[in-house]
Amino acid sequence: MREIPFGRPWITEEDKAAIAAVLDGPILTHGPACKALEEEFGAFLGAGPNGESPHCVTTSSCMAALHLAYLRLGIGPGDEVVVPAQTHVATVHAVEAVGATPVFADCDAATGNVTPETIEPLLTPKTRAISVVHFVGIPCDMRGIMELARKHDLRVIEDCALAVGARIEGVHVGLWGDAGCFSFYPVKHLTTAEGGMFVTRCAEVAEGVRRLRGFGVDRTHEERKIPGMYDVTTFGLNYRMSELQAALGRSQLRRVAAILDVRRKNFRALREALCGGPDDVPGCTILDGPGSSHYCFVAVVGPTRRDRVLSALARDGIGASIYYPHPVPRLTYYRKKYGYDAKRFPCAEAISDGGIALPVGPHLAPDDVERIAASLRAAMTEAAEEVLDRHA
Ligand SMILES: *Cc1c(COP(=O)(O)O)cnc(C)c1O
Repeated sequence: MREIPFGRPWITEEDKAAIAAVLDGPILTHGPACKALEEEFGAFLGAGPNGESPHCVTTSSCMAALHLAYLRLGIGPGDEVVVPAQTHVATVHAVEAVGATPVFADCDAATGNVTPETIEPLLTPKTRAISVVHFVGIPCDMRGIMELARKHDLRVIEDCALAVGARIEGVHVGLWGDAGCFSFYPVKHLTTAEGGMFVTRCAEVAEGVRRLRGFGVDRTHEERKIPGMYDVTTFGLNYRMSELQAALGRSQLRRVAAILDVRRKNFRALREALCGGPDDVPGCTILDGPGSSHYCFVAVVGPTRRDRVLSALARDGIGASIYYPHPVPRLTYYRKKYGYDAKRFPCAEAISDGGIALPVGPHLAPDDVERIAASLRAAMTEAAEEVLDRHA
């Protein structure tokens, strides 16, 4: 039986050749590949909601891009940032990294996304920003969230780690708020092994992030009249992407349409195989929404069946996963620091404790979707019977 992993990076001969070509040359960082990737990624994103051009800055990871966003927007100690409870810990660690206080918002049960309704009651005079995550690539209600932000004069940071290709009314996510942050970690839509992209509609914000990314140095190599001479005008970090990574990213980006197409088709095929027919799997909610980038297929099957279903899938060689295993405020670090009140996060808990994430990536073979659907269906029936037996 062939194992189907949850995710596997798609690396082609062209990708390998692109990396080798950089190694054959003299420039491994601070070079033209990063610049080209920034331009090409911007072209892929397209214009913002009011026709603005995107400005892109390569980074060493999505977490680095998020950290740079808070630094550049001047958010720090004493400030509160409303963050999703249902997300990757990086979304929240970035707020901690600048010494600001995260205030956790629950999500919508059908999408896993924060909404204006879950955010608004948490706003206080100390709130400076709203952080959103497009959960497994499903776009948040950015019109509603931006309206709320304008009303209260708040900055908006979008975590787009799983959202390459996610659009609202044709406008890519990451371009609605003040900053968008993407991840090129191996199992995401595009990979540079490690890497990320900071995106903004504001040239000045992008320029500041560029400086912060490179030690706060005030001029690039090309801008130095005397070689080696520079000044440092601000605090900074080293969050650069290398030329090797950027070359891989550029090569991957050339396939982005095919990558998105395969994910969408696999997602739809899996949904059709599981729902809406006479064989509809009862008691299973599938998270979805318009404009999704279809990072993975999340089925919420409930906490009584979830772990049994996961074991059954593993037995069938299917690499399922959990997105995410705990609402962030329930993770030990955050629970100890801020306390945890489960009553505040019923929807985030329902996804963490009852959700299963299934693969839809380009590594799936043509009949894998059928195999995954059949295995899930059998596992669900088996788990339901076990639950009934226990109650008999
Ligand atoms: C993967 C992920 C991150 C972290 O990305 P890195 O590039 O590994 O820093 C952040 N947010 C979300 C939602 C993610 O899924």
